[in-house]
Amino acid sequence: MADSISFPVGARSRQAARIVPVFLPFRGCPCRCVYCAQDKQTGAEGARGITRTLRGAAAAVESQPHPCELAFYGGTFTAMPGNDRRACLDLLLSLREKGLVSAARCSTRPDALGGSALSELRSGGIDLVELGIQSFSSAALSASRRGYDRRTALEGCRAVQESGLGLGIQLLPGMPGCGPEIFLEDVRTALALHPDCMRFYPCLVPEGTVLAGWLAEGIYAPWSLEETVSVLGRALDLAWQAGVPVIRLSVAPESAFDAAVLAGPRHPALGALIQAEALLQAVERAAASLGRPPRQIILPRFCQGFLYGDHGVLRTRWGSLGLGPGRISYHDGGMAVLS
Ligand code: SF4
Repeated sequence: MADSISFPVGARSRQAARIVPVFLPFRGCPCRCVYCAQDKQTGAEGARGITRTLRGAAAAVESQPHPCELAFYGGTFTAMPGNDRRACLDLLLSLREKGLVSAARCSTRPDALGGSALSELRSGGIDLVELGIQSFSSAALSASRRGYDRRTALEGCRAVQESGLGLGIQLLPGMPGCGPEIFLEDVRTALALHPDCMRFYPCLVPEGTVLAGWLAEGIYAPWSLEETVSVLGRALDLAWQAGVPVIRLSVAPESAFDAAVLAGPRHPALGALIQAEALLQAVERAAASLGRPPRQIILPRFCQGFLYGDHGVLRTRWGSLGLGPGRISYHDGGMAVLS
């Protein structure tokens, strides 16, 4: 019987460099996906010309006190018109040469990596590619009309890694065809690829999308908040065990987007709720393998902020493990220690 068990519970998100986002909503996208409202999600609703967008990005970078990371988000970067992509990469290279940008990433689809796309990104100063995989299930991808299958999703991930670029994997739990079991299988598949980071975007229903129509017709129902917190908590715990950072657990707050959400698991502190659930699931698992009631737990200090969930709803579950407030303490280490 072990005297104590140490286990990972994530890390305080510490960005090596501030990220300056360049939003290019829908640019290069082969279609508008059934759930997607990038224009509202990114706050870049108006159709701005690429020159104006890049001028704004350059000004934002130049105003940073330290070298930053530049990120091209919101569209399908590798399928944008060549001139637009070249303009983005030219700006990136010039900012890198001036020492103002220290890293760069872009987002794209796994079925838009053909030809010399990846070598162009590498020579153009990109370090990491985030793939909007959404699911590795062919059935879910088909139900969501993504236009590619599991094989293409896997090949896309491998192609990014083989090109020497970093890989980010974005998943969309709760999208049409993606129930909890499929999502957890997606997470296991993604973790087996050892990506550099992941993002989970629980599926919401923004007005004006195909999904909003499906919701009205009763063809689609989003996950509840409770189910989302429980399932993503499990998924986050799996990522902690695998040592893969999950850098987002929900769509970032954006007033135009929030006003347009008709249904789905939206909560201002969703990320913290999921972290709290993941932490508790990790502790419950460790307590089960301890083989006796735990005496105390020492947690990394950053856990203090989210430990008990929304309005303390998790206090009872902590208490039923025998870990009331007097038995929980904090340290500066990165692991939880249960004894
Ligand atoms: S989900 Fe991605 S590929 Fe689909 S429309 Fe939105 S940005 Fe484009």
